[in-house]
Amino acid sequence: MKIPVSWLKKYGYCKRQLYLEKTKNISPKTTSKMKKGTKKHKNLEKKHQQKANIKLSLEEAFAKAREENKAYTFREIYLKNHELKGKADEIRIYPDKIEVIDDKPRGKDYYSNKLQVWGYCYLLKNKYGPKKPVFAAIRHRDKKEINWITKYRKKHTEEVKKSLRSIQNILSGKEAGKPSNRNKCRNCRFKEYC
Ligand code: SF4
Repeated sequence: MKIPVSWLKKYGYCKRQLYLEKTKNISPKTTSKMKKGTKKHKNLEKKHQQKANIKLSLEEAFAKAREENKAYTFREIYLKNHELKGKADEIRIYPDKIEVIDDKPRGKDYYSNKLQVWGYCYLLKNKYGPKKPVFAAIRHRDKKEINWITKYRKKHTEEVKKSLRSIQNILSGKEAGKPSNRNKCRNCRFKEYC
């Protein structure tokens, strides 16, 4: 089974939440904030589609960006390998680097957000093996500012793989998924089931 990259974010936030949702089938109501977020996300994609003027594959852009010394932007790129799948919000190909960007409502560099964007970087490297360095970035969805960016390294791949192993254990019932930090419980929509 391929694990959606978004589960890495859930896992990074609270393992117990993932356990409750995926093994106990507990699904609290979607909040209005979440619905609003989904709508804004779709609007960003729509705007990009309206502006997009050429059709190019990621691989073609790797070479063209260097040859033409310009940057290419891709949105909602579906990536997968044998164990993980997901759509990266944005991938920017520059002549000398690649940025994998995840849009977050407040653009916070929480561990859960980083783990998610590392998941996309892992898939990108795994599938395309680009020769340029890859950077993971978190951007404020509304202000459009990149608040956190770091070069994707081997240790991040290890972090993603370790998390995937642990998620598999949670799904198979070997791990119950311990709460990561009780301070998060106050605003958690799972708290009445936890
Ligand atoms: S209430 Fe706390 S421990 Fe339970 S799922 Fe939410 S954050 Fe995790």
